[in-house]
Amino acid sequence: SPINQNSGRLVKMLRQVSSKYNIFTSIGLKERKSVAGGVLANTVAALKDNLTTRDAPTTCSSKILQDYVSPFDSTVARLLTKESTHIVGKTNMDEFGMGNSSLNSNLGPTLNPLYRQSTDIVEYEEKTFWTKGNDINEHTVFENPQSPQYTEHRYLVPRLKDSYQIDPEMRIVGGSSGGSAAAVAADLVDFAIGTDTGGSVRLPSCYTSIYGYKPSYGRISRWGLVSYAQSLDTVGIMSKNLDILSNVFKVLDHHDSSDPTSISETQRSRNETLGAKIKLGVPLEMNLPGLDATIKEKWHSLLQKLQESDNIELHTVSIPSLVSCLPAYYTLVTSEASSNLARFDGIRYGFRSNEQTSQEPEFTTTRSNGFGSEVKRRIILGSYSLSSYGYSSHFMNANGVRKTLINELNNVFKDPHMLDGAANPEGVDFLLCPTATSLPPLVSEYQSIKPVESYMNDVLTVPFSLAGLPVLNIPYGKSIGFQLAGQMGQDYKVLKFAQLMQ
Ligand code: GLN
Repeated sequence: SPINQNSGRLVKMLRQVSSKYNIFTSIGLKERKSVAGGVLANTVAALKDNLTTRDAPTTCSSKILQDYVSPFDSTVARLLTKESTHIVGKTNMDEFGMGNSSLNSNLGPTLNPLYRQSTDIVEYEEKTFWTKGNDINEHTVFENPQSPQYTEHRYLVPRLKDSYQIDPEMRIVGGSSGGSAAAVAADLVDFAIGTDTGGSVRLPSCYTSIYGYKPSYGRISRWGLVSYAQSLDTVGIMSKNLDILSNVFKVLDHHDSSDPTSISETQRSRNETLGAKIKLGVPLEMNLPGLDATIKEKWHSLLQKLQESDNIELHTVSIPSLVSCLPAYYTLVTSEASSNLARFDGIRYGFRSNEQTSQEPEFTTTRSNGFGSEVKRRIILGSYSLSSYGYSSHFMNANGVRKTLINELNNVFKDPHMLDGAANPEGVDFLLCPTATSLPPLVSEYQSIKPVESYMNDVLTVPFSLAGLPVLNIPYGKSIGFQLAGQMGQDYKVLKFAQLMQ
């Protein structure tokens, strides 16, 4: 485990590997304290850079939040630190979580460590900032205040090399939690925290052959998570080791009054008892004509293997609205994003353009220069869906698809939905289907496709996000993975069954 390294050696290793794959947006240089207790003592972790921390910047891989330091810790960071995890750095991502490749980062792409990269693409420089107690107004300064009231924080930040070469055989790592997946895949950490709005934990986990868990919506606190689309955003966990992943989930599985969408303590089922016969549902509509032949074959061989077990029964199930989920997701996610990202106005957070022309206010130049092109595209799409032209035809229709999907799923599952109680005694315990439609594309290939074509790669992950279900990516071969989904609220059953499948 990386914990066996002393702090200096650990940083050297992180820096060396990350120079090739661009995994971290910042690497902390603080000494690792030796700790006596804590459920997660002796583990090393990384945090996606859209979760706030007081001792490192939170940038969402966006220029608009360059050097931004939050005056408070996210609940996730607080709970992990309380249980003695050593957080070594923040990880690179698609800007604000928008993408599925980790190519949409203002710090340059994260690459997939399962494929060879021979040259360095980034170099690191050291930076320091100082913080003063709980003073929000004067919280962060970048020049040494020469005052004992301030605490010093040293860290490394990447800068893309002036000329760099990405290996022509290099494949995308997936996104948007690509840095977190890469950190785990390259054995730099025991686990990493990602976030999943429409597949961002599951897809990169699949492409890097690791476990990636997206819990039920509302299960892990979003306090301190920079919102992309708040009705879909979840915090997820990535690891090679399912026991570590389950332990981390237990640490984070608490109600938090700071997050209005956090599930109440009484509604959290921690039941992990599986029946004598487990019914596995295979959704017909996910057997897409465009599914890669290798993935189809693996899917069949996995199902065949499971069928050999006496206590597993396979059932094909039909969920007709699955085919409408992708457009519904992109309508809702962009609408929510356009509203959430209105807060980045150059006044309250981060980057502020000092350009001001007679035609354009500073506010406009700040947003034009601060956001990347994919983010701007989504703000425009979302603003349309929320406008009087698009509201009933787009936004409300998409909500209708979401509602229908949840009703159809309630008919398919045996367990009742956590919130509305409907149940089908004849239903299945879990659904099983691929995570990705293909193996990870080459970086060069992916850089040249149209944005809308790239959205297609989310087709298998977004339905479970719309329904808020707990889903685990189970690695099954190089860059191939399968999603195991349970009914909303049945998080522990999903983890338990995955353990048995090992
Ligand atoms: N690729 C999807 C999107 O861009 C999902 C991203 C995510 O889960 N954050 O919206």
